[in-house]
Amino acid sequence: MENKIPAAELEAKLGYKKTNFYEKADEATIAAAYDYAKGYMAYLDAAKTEREAVTVSIEMAEKEDYVPYTFGMKLTAGGKYYYNNRGRNLYLFRIGSESINNGIRIVASHVDVPRIDLKQSPLYEEGGMAFFKTHYYGGIRKYQWVTIPLALHGVVVKQDGEVVNVCIGEDPTDPVIYINDLLPHLAQDQSQKPLGKAIPAESLNLLVGTRPYPGAESNAIRLNVLALLNEKYGITEEDFLSADLSAVPAAKARDVGLDRSLIGAYGHDDRVCAYPSLTALFGTDDGVHTAMAILADKEEIGSEGNTGMQTELLTDLISEITTALGGNFATVKANSKCLSSDVTACFDPNFAEVYERRNSSLINCGVAMSKYTGHGGKSGTNDAPAEFVAWIRKIMAEYGVIWQAGELGKTDQGGGGTVAKFIAKHNIETVDLGVPVIAMHAPYEIISKADLYTAHQAFEAFFKA
Ligand code: MN
Ligand code: MN
Repeated sequence: MENKIPAAELEAKLGYKKTNFYEKADEATIAAAYDYAKGYMAYLDAAKTEREAVTVSIEMAEKEDYVPYTFGMKLTAGGKYYYNNRGRNLYLFRIGSESINNGIRIVASHVDVPRIDLKQSPLYEEGGMAFFKTHYYGGIRKYQWVTIPLALHGVVVKQDGEVVNVCIGEDPTDPVIYINDLLPHLAQDQSQKPLGKAIPAESLNLLVGTRPYPGAESNAIRLNVLALLNEKYGITEEDFLSADLSAVPAAKARDVGLDRSLIGAYGHDDRVCAYPSLTALFGTDDGVHTAMAILADKEEIGSEGNTGMQTELLTDLISEITTALGGNFATVKANSKCLSSDVTACFDPNFAEVYERRNSSLINCGVAMSKYTGHGGKSGTNDAPAEFVAWIRKIMAEYGVIWQAGELGKTDQGGGGTVAKFIAKHNIETVDLGVPVIAMHAPYEIISKADLYTAHQAFEAFFKA
């Protein structure tokens, strides 16, 4: 065969390689990405729990003229609504100008984050110290949660229904709480244990005080903590029985790297997708398609409960929207499209052995599509069909979005799931698209500003295209 085309030209024509944001983006786009990150970082600091994320997101939506939705409400084209599900799960939707039978464009992320929850009877005293007993939430690596400043967030609901908001440790003048660890001098036995066993769950106790209540004969430190809580929040020990209280890292979002290209924060997973889904929705007001952003709860524990993505609320809302606009329920679902927007693992050269380099998400190469997640032989995944992936490719190309494909890690190394399968089961075309994260589920995770910005661009393209 006569070799007519030079190899480099042929490679460019036939080959595929990922695009690094910084190789392609102009200065203005890079500046836009860095600027966009500021709003995201403020969102992170204001919203460390799903309840706070819902509250802050509603504030953002109301500024964009979104109004509360109630079942049975009349809906009009161009109308913007939000449904607040129990303060922990939010659906925002905007009615498009086309027929509802063309389906809804859905971006679904989650706003719950792995954390350290308080047990129902948490407070006790031992060895001159008062502690809260805890029960961890989600897939944490327990050894990462000791010896770091923690803040207490959540609500206590009194028997009469009064909701008391608790937040200690975020204001610079606040105290923080803490989980003890062993000093290396006495850790010979502990150091021999596997990482997963070195810090047992029942040793994740929160140090909350050491000072006795004057005159108390026993449990004086415990009593003093109760007195302080009563003084500040008007609560008693029994009120802990009906509370959602969590210890979360007290640290704020910060620029990371000398070039400030990264963001370190608690809970990028998955607010790094939730925030762009909001800005993309708000940026496409004049949309032809009906669009929806979902901020789900309980993803980290299997999307359970009536605020998790397994609830039938999604189909209830689609049914209500369809009825209000005179469409057909089955048709609307069949024509709907969903980006399950959750984070994926970013290739980390420090732990290269768990990644399959050719199919991992690389830093700064854009928002990452995972055609499938799950574990083992694709167990427990919605494996998105090639037809839908091709359509995503098309719109990303049309809108000039830098994106990449990426699996979590090596096959059989581990695995994970997202809300994708819980949405796809309603006959909605669904694929995972989210931002790569370094040290996912750690108290302080890392993402790239470039990848964050491409998530916003990708969701905007998805709502518009
Ligand atoms: Mn996630
Ligand atoms: Mn997660």
